[in-house]
Amino acid sequence: MQTQLVVIGGGPGGYAAAFLAADEGMEVVIVEADVRLGGTCLIRGCIPSKALLHVARVLSETAELEHDWGVSFGTPQIELEKLRDRKNRVVDTLTGGLDGLAKQRKVTVVQARAKFVNSTTIELEGDHESIPEGKQITFEHAIIATGSVPAMPGAFNLGSDRVMDSTGALNLADIPESMLVIGGGYIGLEMGTVYANLGTQVSVVELQDGLLMGADRDLVRPLEKHLKVLFNERIFLETKVGSLSLDGDKVQVTFEGPKKFGTESYDRVLVSVGRWPNTKNLGLENTSVQTDEKGFVKHDGSLRTDDANIFVIGDAAGEPMLAHKANHEGRHAIEVILGHATTFDRRTIPAVVFTDPEIAWTGLTVEEAKAQNVPHEVVKYPWAASGRAQAIGRTEGVTKWLVDPESEQVIGCGIVGPGAGELIAEAALAIEMGCEVRDISETIHAHPTLSETMMNAAEVFYGTATEIY
Ligand code: FAD
Repeated sequence: MQTQLVVIGGGPGGYAAAFLAADEGMEVVIVEADVRLGGTCLIRGCIPSKALLHVARVLSETAELEHDWGVSFGTPQIELEKLRDRKNRVVDTLTGGLDGLAKQRKVTVVQARAKFVNSTTIELEGDHESIPEGKQITFEHAIIATGSVPAMPGAFNLGSDRVMDSTGALNLADIPESMLVIGGGYIGLEMGTVYANLGTQVSVVELQDGLLMGADRDLVRPLEKHLKVLFNERIFLETKVGSLSLDGDKVQVTFEGPKKFGTESYDRVLVSVGRWPNTKNLGLENTSVQTDEKGFVKHDGSLRTDDANIFVIGDAAGEPMLAHKANHEGRHAIEVILGHATTFDRRTIPAVVFTDPEIAWTGLTVEEAKAQNVPHEVVKYPWAASGRAQAIGRTEGVTKWLVDPESEQVIGCGIVGPGAGELIAEAALAIEMGCEVRDISETIHAHPTLSETMMNAAEVFYGTATEIY
């Protein structure tokens, strides 16, 4: 088989690239090892986790109504099979939709594992009927969109489903009485939030001295406070897990201080200590494509690898490993291949942690601005002064802007509070457009909304913030 473009991997990077290329008139083949298109995000990442986090949020809100507002519903009864089915149906609907979109665009989908034979050919492993005769595809351009896999250090890999990665946790085999989350990053905290709200006693152990180390500390603090209550104070920072071993139906965990010592048993352990790029066994050694020491594929600013006709996008191309970054890179790579004038402003890739409260940021964080010696002024608006935050009982939130003091342009934004992930879009647009902080302070925001805090924080820059209750 011959084609203009072969895309290896059908996740949010791969299918975005393939669909845009087909829309632009290219002949496109996606090779996907899984039985479905959708990749990590759709099948075992963003979407199933957010479906479960939706349930967690409603459970937490009903508990709050009972506690604070005098409205009782009784003890929630959870039918696990129904819950799993509902989550799986969301995934099935979306993956089914992708099949339809591929057909509509006449994108050929081959279900196989691809491996480079040389710089213009891949070979296909598998026996699915979609695999063309000869089991090879020759291409003019290829895009590596093979994503990443959960990191599972050898010492934690006991070969038992009691020790899970994020995929295992999303399968929701049971609601264990106790679970240890190893790693205080966003995936561990999101899954910990799900299980804790379903009734599990969750503990978190983290090697560093804080949770979510990429985020500014003032944004993490309100979340840490909330999680301490949700996890019954069982957050062990600056603590190393020495070893894991199986003891009947339990997992024995040894902690090596300084904050926690000794051994404790858990029903399940979730290992969420990062993700590894999926670039092994791809036959890259048969091409000129180079990888760095972590296995990410090296590329120039246009996502072109050291092999001129091979591009890389998404998690395989490096941090941040996020679906919207993969999606955008997929589209950018196609524009480059087609020779269109195109730019990709990496500064504004938003990051969102879908915990309760949510944390979101875009542009520079304060820590990054300091490290890069970028002059910046920080203006903050506490949600305690927001009428809407008071009405919904969520006054712990904060909205802040980073402003270039000379040009008065906004260069960063961070938000903590419910709905932060939705609010951050305004900041990404503002930074991408090169807005001055005055553009935001003078934009009328509807009252009473949490989005008003974006305007109020901007007003703080001029000392003109006026609360309207
Ligand atoms: P992937 O989605 O990983 O897709 C790669 C595809 O390539 C896979 O389908 C794989 O089967 C296929 N493949 C690999 N090797 C081969 C081969 N040799 N031949 C053929 N096919 C191959 N991101 C967000 O932005 N927001 C979130 O809320 C979010 N939540 C997450 C929650 C969890 C639990 C996890 C695990 C991840 C989450 N992510 C989230 C991250 C997000 O899923 C990834 O950043 C995104 O999926 C990366 O897209 P990709 O296209 O690069 O690769």
